[in-house]
Amino acid sequence: MSSLAEEVARRRTFAIISHPDAGKTTLTEKLLLFGGAIQLAGAVKARGQARRARSDWMKVEQERGISVASSVMTYDYAGRTFNLLDTPGHEDFSEDTYRTLTAVDSAVMVIDAAKGIEEQTRKLFEVCRLRDVPIVTFVNKLDRESRDPFELLDEVEQTLALDVSPASWPIGMGSRFKGCYDLLRDQLILVERGSHDRPAEGIQCSGLDDPKLDELLPADQVRELREQVEMVRGLCPEFDLEAFRHGTMTPVFFGSALNNFGVRELLEGVAEFSPPPRPQPAVERAIDPAEDKVSAFVFKIQANMDPKHRDRIAFVRLSSGHFRRGMKLKHIRSGKVLTMHNPVLFLARDRETAEEAWPGDIIGIPNHGNLRIGDTLTEGEELHVTGIPSFAPELLQRVRPTDPMKMKHLSRAVEQLAEEGAAKAFKTRLGSQWIVGVVGALQFEVLADRIRTEYDVPVTFETAGLHTARWIAADDPAELKRFTDAHQGDLAEDHDGDPVFLARNGWHLKHTTDTWPKLRFLATKEQV
Ligand code: GDP
Repeated sequence: MSSLAEEVARRRTFAIISHPDAGKTTLTEKLLLFGGAIQLAGAVKARGQARRARSDWMKVEQERGISVASSVMTYDYAGRTFNLLDTPGHEDFSEDTYRTLTAVDSAVMVIDAAKGIEEQTRKLFEVCRLRDVPIVTFVNKLDRESRDPFELLDEVEQTLALDVSPASWPIGMGSRFKGCYDLLRDQLILVERGSHDRPAEGIQCSGLDDPKLDELLPADQVRELREQVEMVRGLCPEFDLEAFRHGTMTPVFFGSALNNFGVRELLEGVAEFSPPPRPQPAVERAIDPAEDKVSAFVFKIQANMDPKHRDRIAFVRLSSGHFRRGMKLKHIRSGKVLTMHNPVLFLARDRETAEEAWPGDIIGIPNHGNLRIGDTLTEGEELHVTGIPSFAPELLQRVRPTDPMKMKHLSRAVEQLAEEGAAKAFKTRLGSQWIVGVVGALQFEVLADRIRTEYDVPVTFETAGLHTARWIAADDPAELKRFTDAHQGDLAEDHDGDPVFLARNGWHLKHTTDTWPKLRFLATKEQV
């Protein structure tokens, strides 16, 4: 049997962050090819295509179904076990993405070489920065006309305030793209036309002056490469593992995911540089992955694939210890002991029962709604994992059952969907109405359909004249009470029973926060 320390050391749990269309799906597919997960790679592709039809929410539903199977992909390569956590690409589901990023130890940032840093990439990067998640950069689509690589590096450095250290350097671009020079290993990696699924073999060089370069590349491109590498080595800092692990430096790989070019070097970079599971912060203390006792936390809940089936899967990241099927874990929030009868492991090709799992691994735990996002599971110790955010929704609507007799059913549906993290649900203090908050408008349609098909309650969403919601916190409970007494009409409770202020417009929010300086109006809530 392998030792806990060894298993921790070989784990790499990561996610890919990018702006839609930069090539995340394609890169995922190619990464999985290395782990022999070709079949699933097809599924990833199918989902990528479905996702593009964004106006059609049925497709989003399909995506939701498929993503249960493919939202965690575990594969082995070169003696390491990789857990690649997929993040929904659709911007309407960004909250899910944010939470997923709380369960990774590093990320790969994919940039379209023609576009540079785009909006979604920047936002996701900011989330990674909150936890100093180390980032490996992949500049994609070099087979197309791209921006100047120096300009791209400069943009990463400037917009993200991150030191950049190129790990490879592109030789030409677009139709003149010949390959890359591997700056870490001094080898030339050339594009072999027409071998999409086979990674190119590196050609060992003794350095940039090696005459092999002159034999293999056109004279003008060799000259350009030598000049540029000299400049790059003068301008950019050398790769520093410490700085990378602290999240202040990113190694940059260039390539073309579609042509499977540069992907192996990227994967080897992740294997070599990205950290194994990191200690998990909790209220009481940090949890070290190599601790004997098992601890874990829920970062995502997903309704089961069968919509009529009320079961859900909690996605749980193991923080420490050697997990075995059948073990009993204490659910800290409820104090109940749960037996892990049917944990699911998301292997590259399929799901299967998890007989065991190690820190950094993600297991799925089927449940009937008792597990919630942010919950901690341990072998008994009272630990509350921190750092899993909940964001204030940007769109709020009132939801009503078409049949008023079905109010109770609606409450159940809304509460369950809120626990799952599919939306925020706020019950108003006065009138006990349900206000549902989401990040993207498309979610209202998806929710209406889910409430109708899964709970049998036809509903309508209507404008509520609300601008945003803020969780309210105060050091002085008396001050909080004064506020809630004075603002009954603007108050609601979230599904955990925490007080929320509903602002009618920007001015209402500003005026209220100015008037009550001792209160904190929070746009994010940490689940503890
Ligand atoms: P995602 O939205 O980030 O998942 O992006 P996809 O992987 O779905 O890719 C978006 C589009 O870019 C698709 O048409 C891909 O075929 C294309 N694409 C991805 N990688 C490359 C590449 O390296 N070169 C070129 N020319 N196209 C690419």
